[in-house]
Amino acid sequence: MAIRKIRQLGDDILRKKCREVPEMTPKLQELIGDMYDTMYEAEGVGLAAPQVGILKRIVVIDVDGTPYTMVNPKILETRDTETASEGCLSVPGKAGEVTRPAHVRAEAWDENMEYYVVEADGYLARAICHEIDHLEGIVYVDKVEGELYDVEMEDEE
Ligand code: ZN
Repeated sequence: MAIRKIRQLGDDILRKKCREVPEMTPKLQELIGDMYDTMYEAEGVGLAAPQVGILKRIVVIDVDGTPYTMVNPKILETRDTETASEGCLSVPGKAGEVTRPAHVRAEAWDENMEYYVVEADGYLARAICHEIDHLEGIVYVDKVEGELYDVEMEDEE
């Protein structure tokens, strides 16, 4: 387990499309472990592999103490929309308003390549959409309504 360097907005790698993961390997499981370490260290709620320089379709999310490892994730269904503040570990100190689906149903495989489907609302739904966007080379600043604003770098309790 190790902390990896988080790529910042402006790094070309964040604009590339990621490749499907055909099978799980010990090396990828190590990457996933490192992604959790890196996300928790940075006090984030989600991290996509391209943010640590790896162009593979892997994201980790933990918005409320329940971690979701999502390999080859795909949105199956969305319902309603919600506009709320959003930030990204690749754009530190900033946030902006983004409209996302309020409810999503998504499929993915976990770190053991076990298939699952997750039904998500609110913040978790937002995080899933945000992280899957990263796999397509999309950063939330592309979707922001109005200007980015500065945020205090502190825990949101
Ligand atoms: Zn992000």
